[in-house]
Amino acid sequence: MVIGILGVQGAVREHQEMLQALDVDTVIVKSATDLETIDGLVLPGGESTTMRRLIDRYDLFDLLCEKVGTLPMFGTCAGMILLATELSQGTAHLKGIPMTVRRNAFGRQVDSFETRLPIERIGSDIEAVFIRAPYVERIGEGVRVLATVSDAVVAVETDLHLACSFHPELTTDTRLHRYFIQKIKQRQTISV
Ligand code: GLN
Repeated sequence: MVIGILGVQGAVREHQEMLQALDVDTVIVKSATDLETIDGLVLPGGESTTMRRLIDRYDLFDLLCEKVGTLPMFGTCAGMILLATELSQGTAHLKGIPMTVRRNAFGRQVDSFETRLPIERIGSDIEAVFIRAPYVERIGEGVRVLATVSDAVVAVETDLHLACSFHPELTTDTRLHRYFIQKIKQRQTISV
C-alpha cells in the first residue's frame, strides 16, 4: 500500500512520519504523476486558502477534483476544509464530503486547545490538538459523525473519506491513521 500526502503546504512531514511508523510507503504529492500510484491521499492541516492557491499553481486542482470521487482521502484541519462541498464563507474546493464547514470556528478565546476525545469506531481517549480549527455545521447524505466537542462536529467519514478538525499527526496517537489504512484496505477487498 502506498499513501500520498499532499505536499504543497502544512504538516506534511508529520503525517509522513506517522504513516512510515505504521509501515506504509509514502509519496509526497506535488505533481500529477505522484497521484498515479497511490491508494489513498492525506490532505494535511495548514492554511486552506494558501493550500488552494498552491494546488492551482502546481496544476493539481482538476485532477484532485476527479480523484476525490474514487480515491480515499483523509483531511485533517485545513484538509477537512478542502474536502467540504460547502463552506460557511467562501468557495468550496474539492467537494468530496457532502458537508458545510466553518473555518476558524472555535473563536478567538479558544483559538487553539488540546483535549481527549472518544471517536466512534476508532477508540476512546484520543489525543486531539485543535489549531484555529474548523468544525462541521451541516452534514449531508452518507456522512457519519464520528466525534463532537461541545456539540460541534469535529470528525466525520463517508464510505470513501475521513476528515477531522484536529491534528492527529502532531500527537503520538496513531489510531486515526490506522483507521484510514483500514478503510483503504476494506475498499480494496470489496473491489477485488
Ligand atoms: N484555520 C486554517 C484554515 O482556515 C486551518 C488551520 C489548521 O489547519 N490548523 O485553513
